This record gives sequence, C-alpha cells and structure tokens, in this order.
Amino acid sequence: MTIKIQEVITRDGFQMEKKFIPTETKIKLIDELSECGFSKIEITSFVSPKVVPQLSDADIVAQAIKRNKDVSYVALVANLKGAERAIDANIDEINLVMSASATHNMKNVNQLHEQSLDGFRNIMKLIKGSAIKVNGSIATSFGCPFEGSISEELILRIIDDYLEMGMNSITLADTTGMANPVQVKRLVNKVKLEIDEIPLSLHFHNTRGMGLANVLAAIEAGASQFDSSLGGLGGCPFAPGATGNICTEDLVHMLDQMGINNSANLDRLINISKKLPNIVGRNDLPGQVVKSGKITDLHEF
Ligand code: ZN
Repeated sequence: MTIKIQEVITRDGFQMEKKFIPTETKIKLIDELSECGFSKIEITSFVSPKVVPQLSDADIVAQAIKRNKDVSYVALVANLKGAERAIDANIDEINLVMSASATHNMKNVNQLHEQSLDGFRNIMKLIKGSAIKVNGSIATSFGCPFEGSISEELILRIIDDYLEMGMNSITLADTTGMANPVQVKRLVNKVKLEIDEIPLSLHFHNTRGMGLANVLAAIEAGASQFDSSLGGLGGCPFAPGATGNICTEDLVHMLDQMGINNSANLDRLINISKKLPNIVGRNDLPGQVVKSGKITDLHEF
C-alpha cells in the first residue's frame, strides 16, 4: 500500500491568513510543491473574493503555475460561477464541500443541505462530458462545534447523494479537530464497507493534538489518502477555535519512520517549510519536525 497525500497549504493553509500573501509567492510555492511527490495539490478556492480575500487571485494562480503531469491540481469550488472559473483555469479536479452539520453548513455557505446538494447537481451538469474530476467533501464529519456529535448514518446518506450525482471520490473532513482514533477507525470501516471501489480521503485538523493518531487509525482501517498542510497551517474561518491541518512534513516523517510507503520527499518539504515564517510573517507555526529535525539527524557529541 502507498499512502497518497494531497497538499492543501495554499488553500486551507492560507485562507485564514490575514496578511495578503503575494500572488507571485503563492505561484512559486506551488511550483516547488509540485516537485515533492504529492499526488494532488489543492491550490486555491474559487469563492467570492469578499468571503475569502486571501484567495481572490485564484484565477491568476491556477493559470500561472507550472503543471507537473504526475500531479492533479485541485480547487475548492463554492457554486456554479466558481465551477465556470475553475473550468476556464484548466483545473484537474474540483472539490465540493457540504457540512454534515446543518448549522455549520449555514454558517459556512449560508445554505440548507438541500440547497447545497441542488447546487452540486447543477455543477455536475455543467462539467458533464469534460475531463474534470469531482471530489465530494463532507465537512464536520466527526463532530461539529455547534451541534456536537454527527450521526454516522447521516454521513453514509450524504455519501450516497454524492455518488448518485456521479462524484469520483469522497473526503471525510474533521474540520475542527474533533475526531479521535477509535471513532475514525469505526467510521472509516463503515464507509469502506459501503464504497470500497471509490477513493476515500481523510482531512484531519490537529486542533486537539489527535491528528496523526487519527491518520494511523484510518490507515489501520484501510484508508490510504490524506490531506495535509505544510507547516501545519490552516483552519476554517467559519468555525470557532479552528486551527491548523495536520502538518505535511510531520506526517511524512512519521510514515517514513514507520516504513509506510509514500511518494513524498521529506527533505525537500522541510526545506520549503523553513521558508514559511517569512511567507506568512510570523514564527509560531505548528509544524514539529521543521523545528526539531528528523529523528535520523544525529547530533555531534
Ligand atoms: Zn480543513
């Protein structure tokens, strides 16, 4: 088994950053990440610039990056207009997100579940016949900061809706870091029983320090695709207390140490991660390995 990683720093990682990161910087970062062995890079969001000003340069970024043919370039899309922009920008895959929690969906996109699903159906019609793939994400899959626990039956129902529309893959997102390893194992097992032929990804945030433990639990339940952000940046602007994604270089370091196959290049990632404090203008980034070095970096005595 080889673990596949989708790097999300320039989307999930940057969307919470208040200081605007220059478009050129984003493009250069994505170009460097394209040479690090990721299967996918979620590069930006096609959403209203009023809602997420940091990603208002989505069209320019998507068109200016150098494409590596081994990498699928993904963008989050919020509505039909966003899907049209993503098509014009030659995106390989669009990521559609609805929250399992009705309250969080209202806060996040101001829509009822039925409205979100109707919007997705229109997007599926728009892209029909094109080569663009569609991933369906379910935010707050493991718990919601407004509603608390989320029923597993609800997750399975949303997956059914997504697959009925013809989506190509599914992501279960732990938007605010509420998942624990036992819960992850149970839900991944349940979902894999239903949809073993459809690619399943897990999107964890390390809000409460359980991120990498959740990855391991998911791997033990048969999952092999994960989202992560370089430096552990990230968070949801519409959820109280949301913090960073699991950190890519920490994830790859753990996988390498455990002898679990993955195609990411740890040394390159650490080198790029060292530039992040400069890019975001602060030093308090959550990534661990970039501060402490790899286990194999021995010290002189
Ligand atoms: Zn996220």
